Amino acid sequence: MHLRSLSLATLMVLSISLPLQAQDDFEYWPDTNYDPAVPTVFDVLGYQPGERITWHRDAIRYFHALAEAAPDRVELVEYARSWQNRELIYAVISSAENSARLSEAKANMQALADPRITDDAAASRIIDEQPAVTWLSYGVHGNEISSTDASMLTAYHLLASRGDDRVDSILQNTIVVIDPMQNPDGRDRFIHNFVTAEGLLPDSDRLSAEHDEPWPGGRTNHYLFDMNRDWFIQTQPETQGRTKAMLEWYPVAYVDAHEMGSDGTYFFAPEAIPYNPHLAEAQRSSLQLFGRNNARYFDMFGFDYFTREVYDAFYPGYGASWPSYFGSIAMTYEQASSRGLVVRQYDGNDLHYRYAVRNHFVTSLATAETVSENRQKFLQEFYEYRASAIEEGEDEDIRAYILPVQADQAAANKLAGLLSRQDIEVQRALSSFNACGESYQPGAYLIRTDQPSKRFIRTLLDSEVGMEEDFLAEQERRRERNLPDEIYDVTAWSLPLMMNVETDICGRIPSGDFELVGTDLVQPGSVAGGRASVSYLVPWGSAPAVRFLARALREGLAVKSNDKAFTNIGNEYPAGTLILDISDNPDSVHETVNRLATETGANVVAVSDSWVTDGPSFGSANVVRHNEPKVAMAWDVPTASYSAGNTRFVIERQFDFPVTAIRVDILGSANLNRYQVLILPLMNGAGYKTVLGESGIENLKTWVRQGGVIIGLGNATRFLADSDVDLLSIRRERAVIEKEVADSENADAAEESAVDGQYITSIDQYEAQTHALENYPDAVAGVLVRADVDQEHWLSAGVAPVLNVLVRGGDVYTPVRLSDGFNVARFQGPDELLASGYIWEENRRQLAYKPFVVSESYGAGEVIAFTQDPTVRAYLDGLNVMLMNAIFRGAAHARPAR
Ligand SMILES: [Zn+2]
Repeated sequence: MHLRSLSLATLMVLSISLPLQAQDDFEYWPDTNYDPAVPTVFDVLGYQPGERITWHRDAIRYFHALAEAAPDRVELVEYARSWQNRELIYAVISSAENSARLSEAKANMQALADPRITDDAAASRIIDEQPAVTWLSYGVHGNEISSTDASMLTAYHLLASRGDDRVDSILQNTIVVIDPMQNPDGRDRFIHNFVTAEGLLPDSDRLSAEHDEPWPGGRTNHYLFDMNRDWFIQTQPETQGRTKAMLEWYPVAYVDAHEMGSDGTYFFAPEAIPYNPHLAEAQRSSLQLFGRNNARYFDMFGFDYFTREVYDAFYPGYGASWPSYFGSIAMTYEQASSRGLVVRQYDGNDLHYRYAVRNHFVTSLATAETVSENRQKFLQEFYEYRASAIEEGEDEDIRAYILPVQADQAAANKLAGLLSRQDIEVQRALSSFNACGESYQPGAYLIRTDQPSKRFIRTLLDSEVGMEEDFLAEQERRRERNLPDEIYDVTAWSLPLMMNVETDICGRIPSGDFELVGTDLVQPGSVAGGRASVSYLVPWGSAPAVRFLARALREGLAVKSNDKAFTNIGNEYPAGTLILDISDNPDSVHETVNRLATETGANVVAVSDSWVTDGPSFGSANVVRHNEPKVAMAWDVPTASYSAGNTRFVIERQFDFPVTAIRVDILGSANLNRYQVLILPLMNGAGYKTVLGESGIENLKTWVRQGGVIIGLGNATRFLADSDVDLLSIRRERAVIEKEVADSENADAAEESAVDGQYITSIDQYEAQTHALENYPDAVAGVLVRADVDQEHWLSAGVAPVLNVLVRGGDVYTPVRLSDGFNVARFQGPDELLASGYIWEENRRQLAYKPFVVSESYGAGEVIAFTQDPTVRAYLDGLNVMLMNAIFRGAAHARPAR
C-alpha cells in the first residue's frame, strides 16, 4: 500500500489505524509544549516521525515548510546538487536576533580563524558576543536512514518548543546548522528498494527482502563512493559543496550521524584510539564534554550506549575527522540500524525505526546544548587551536613544503588547488628562488607551515603519520592470538605519494616573489608553435594528455602514438606521445586541437617537420593508430560496488570517456564483439568464476582470443589467474609457512580419530602447535608500497619509473615468466618497498619483488591485471596513466580481425 498516492483526507483517516504510538508510551521527548504555528512532520508529510522513512523530496519539503513558518529563525541554503540532481541543503537555525545577523557571525568566525590578523584582545571581544556554531550532518551513508528523520525532529523541536530553557539558551548562544541529508541519491535508492519489497506489515525478519538490499545498496552515492572517505580528496560534488560551506562557518562542533549494524546500541564520543598525532590536546578533552552530556540523557531515558571502542578518527577523510583539522570538535554518532521500519535483533527484541530516530534526535539536542553551555570555551579553544598551529609551524623542523616544477606539472597543479580548497594557503613562485640548497623555477609551489592549517598540512603532506607504539604492539599481540586487528581504515594517505607529486621539505622559509593560488584543479593548456603544417604532438604522461586523447577520439580525430620516446627537431618526447597528422584529419583540426588543449589542460606542440633524429619516426611500426575503443565494465553481482563505481567515475569524469556497464549475469552469454575493452572490477562473494559459469568463462576467453583486451583490477586477478580460467599464467600465493610451525603439525591428524601422544616441553613448542594455520597472508589495512616500472613496455609509456601503490588485503601473486608475458610493474625489495603506513612483517617480505601489473597476450587479445586496486576512492592519481594505457593503448595494440 502506498500512502502517498492517497488524498490527505483519506490519509488522515487511514493513519488512525497505522501509528505504532497507540501501542505503548513511546515519546520522543517528555513534557513538551509545542507552538502549533510551527508545522509538524505529520502536518506536512502525513505521517508521524519515525513511521515512514522519509524520501529526499519530502525532507526538503518539510524544511521549506519550517522556513516558511519561522522565516525569522530559519535560513535554508542549497550547497550542492548530487549527480542525480537532487538538492543538498542546510538549515541555519538560531534566535531571531542571531538570525538577523548571520553574515556578521560568519565574518566574526573568519576573523577568529586567523590569529595573524586578529590579536588576543580582538579575539576576546568577538568571543564575548559571538554565537558558536554547531553543525549536525545526517545520512552520509544512504542506507543509514534514521538520522534524516531525526534531523526533521531536531529542527522542529528547536523551533516549536515553548517554555524549554534548554532550547532558549541553545538559540541564544548558538547557531545550529542542520544538514538533513548528505547523500540523497543513496538514500532514495535505499527507500526505493525498501518500499519495492514491502508487504502487508513491516517485516522484522532479516531474511526478508526488506532487509536484503540489492546491489549496490544505498550506502554510496551515484558513482558508488563512500563519501565518508572523500573529505580530503573531494572527488564528489556533494563533498565539494559541503566542505566549502563549512569553511564559511567554522563550526566549533561537528557531528556526523551514522548507523551501524542492527545488533548494536549507540556509540558516541570519546572515540577509540589510535588518535591522530596532529590534533590538539584540547580537542581530545572537549570530546569528553559531549560524551558526558549525551550519556546524561541516555541514563535519564534508560538507553544503552558505548564509547571508546571501534570508531577512531585516525584517517583524516571521515566526516568525524576532517573538521578537526580546521579546529572543530568532530564526532561520529552511531545508532544500531533498523534497516527498514523494524528489525529483529539477536536477542529477539524488535528494533523499531522510531527508536533509532529518537536516539539521534536526543544526541542532536544534547550536542547543541553542550555547545551552548561551553560557548566561550569552545570559541576560545578554536582561536587557540589556530594560533598554536602557527606557533608550532614556526618551531618545527619543517617550515616549508615545495612542489618543484616537474615532469607531471598537471599533478602538482591539482595538488596545489586541492590544498587551497581546504583552508591551506599555497603560493606560486613568480620568479626563481633558492631553498635548502636547491634552486626552483618560477611556477614552483610553496606551502609554509606557519599558518593556521599547519596540522592539516602535515597530516596530508608528510609521508608518514604514525600510530601510537602501544596501539601497534597491541595489534601485533592480537594477530599472534588470531584475533582480528583494530585498524579501522588505511594507515597511509600521503597526497604527494598518492598523486606522485615530487615534494621537497625545507627547514627555512625561502624568500622570493610569490602569489597566493586559487582553487582550480586544472590549468588550461595551450598550443605552442602556432598552426601546424605536419602534426600536432601531445607529450604523454599526464592526466590532461589522457583527457585530450579521450576527447580527440570522441570527436573523431585520427590519433596515433609512439611506443617509444623520440626526438623531433631537438625536442625530446616521452613514450606514448600522441601524434595528430594534419593530412589524416579534417581542416577543422586546428580549431579542435586549440579548443581541446584549453578544455583538457593538455600542452600541445605544433610541428612543421616530422624529422626524427632519435627513436621511431612517425610512420614506424612502433607507432600505433588509436581507435575509439568501446569500453565495457562488469557491473552488479559479484562486482565490488566501490570498485565498479569508482573505476567508472575515474574513466568517465576524470578522463571524459564513456563506459558501458554490463551486468555480470548477462556478460557470460552476451555477444561482446562490439567491445574492444572489458574491465573486471574487484569482486565479492562467489566471484566471477561462479557467476559466469563454464560457458560464460568460455565466452570471455573466445572474445579475448579474437582480439579483446580484458583488464582485471585487484582481486579480479584471482579470477584471471585461476587454473580453471587460465587467462593468466601467474598464480596467487598462499602464506609462507615458517618451518617450526610446519614441523609441529601432525600430518595424519585430520585422517585419524586419535594421534600419537607427545610431550610439550616448552612454551615455544606450545605456541608452534597452537599457531593458527592461515591459508593466505593476513590482510593489510592499507599501506603505500613502491613499485618499479619496466620502462620498455607499451603499458608503461609516459609512466613514472616508480609508482606508489595502495596495498590492501593479503593477495600476492607469482611473477610472470618472460616466456608468458611481462611484469610491467613489480614491488620493490623488502627493505625499500614500504613508502608509508603500517604493514605486517610477513607481508612485507612476501610482497617484495612480486608483480603489481602484468600483461600477457592471449590469441589476438591482451590480458592485463593490476594486482591491487588502482582506482580506490579515485585518489591514486599516480596510477592513472598506467590504467589509461591499459584501456587506450591496450585497444590500439590488440589485433582483432577486421
Ligand atoms: Zn555510516
